[in-house]
Amino acid sequence: MVLGVIFGFIMNSVDGGKGFVTDWIAPFGTIFINLLKLIAVPLILASLIKGISDLKDISKIKSMGLRTILIYVGTTLVAIVIGLSIVNTLKPGTGMSQDTIEKIKLKYENDAGVTDKLTKASAQHDAGPLQALVDIFPSNIFTALGEAQMLQVIFFALFVGICLLLIPEKDAKPLVKFFNSLNEVVMKMVDLIMLFAPYAVFALMANVIIAFDDTEILLKLLNYALCVVAGLALMIVFYLILIKSFTGKSPLWFLNKISPAQLLAFSTSSSAATLPVTMERVEEHIGVDKEVSGFVLPVGATVNMDGTSLYQGIAAVFIMQVIWPEGLTFTNQLVIIATALLASIGSAAVPSAGMVMLVIVLESIGFPAELLPIGLALIFAVDRPLDMCRTVVNVTGDATVSMLVAKSLDKLHEPKPKNWDDNYDKVK
Ligand code: ASP
Repeated sequence: MVLGVIFGFIMNSVDGGKGFVTDWIAPFGTIFINLLKLIAVPLILASLIKGISDLKDISKIKSMGLRTILIYVGTTLVAIVIGLSIVNTLKPGTGMSQDTIEKIKLKYENDAGVTDKLTKASAQHDAGPLQALVDIFPSNIFTALGEAQMLQVIFFALFVGICLLLIPEKDAKPLVKFFNSLNEVVMKMVDLIMLFAPYAVFALMANVIIAFDDTEILLKLLNYALCVVAGLALMIVFYLILIKSFTGKSPLWFLNKISPAQLLAFSTSSSAATLPVTMERVEEHIGVDKEVSGFVLPVGATVNMDGTSLYQGIAAVFIMQVIWPEGLTFTNQLVIIATALLASIGSAAVPSAGMVMLVIVLESIGFPAELLPIGLALIFAVDRPLDMCRTVVNVTGDATVSMLVAKSLDKLHEPKPKNWDDNYDKVK
């Protein structure tokens, strides 16, 4: 990671360096992310079907589901409240000079990145209130698998798992065995893909660094960025306290075990791409049983984004402090809490999705439409580094909740880590 950052800065300052990184380095990062995405869907399918069919008791699914959703909503609310408290106390947006605002406006207001977010947000906005619910139920499982529609795949896997429990054991056995075997194979793929991680992380970091070109604007946004980072750090502390209090495990042990997933979240800015590694770490290195991790983690990657909602709270208030101070009422802040919670559920687990949903949060408090492009322009320059940080929190939050749910169901055991070469001697 460090070498990638240094290399990126060097390439930024030499002639043709950026082109070199784009053409010859970045593709290795893309290959790595493609591989992770490739295995995410089969992994969810196999581990969830296998896990549910292992439960042997359908009522456990209900208690697991309820606990998961309640804890997810609880941690997200804590995240938004932390974000709003920080931004209202430190007020990073007050005192920004008109000159700086003009500069940022000029540079980013019509930037393709900003207009792209606005277009995506209006597409989301046009959907009816129950569309999110309808979207969970696939009409064609192959389309759902092909388009990696996480919630649809989770629904299908749960459905298959429950039906496997409801049919006689001898009829269920072949399919259970098949998914068990598929699960083992995909887990092995995670081990193999991770051998390539250091090179890929180098490539991803170098590629991120060459995109930074205006350090002056970055420095002007430092106060805002620091508020987000401080909030995210507090969230991690909150998770560690939860882990210590409810599972008795040491926070340092947890951080040590989950760090490869955090590192990937940071480099890829995508909880979805990180999911296979999060699952591998949580199951094999932390000791959460498959039936819990197979459900809690994929659901979390899609609907639980504490880092994203914390960021949305801070970003919305920051933008108001700069260009719409009259909107800073207590009621609006309450509306932000509600919409940021829903927005984090609705945000896709891909880079920069949080910024799209931020538009919806802003619209919900009556933010003037003509100011929206300027609002997004204000925070655009630092969005990528903040996205990297909030994705780390999103992934850590999912892992924490999976531990809490597992502990409450007596499904947290001594981990049995597997290595890529456990069976290698036999086939060498
Ligand atoms: N990149 C984040 C994730 O994948 C979502 C976001 O906040 O933009 O978790």
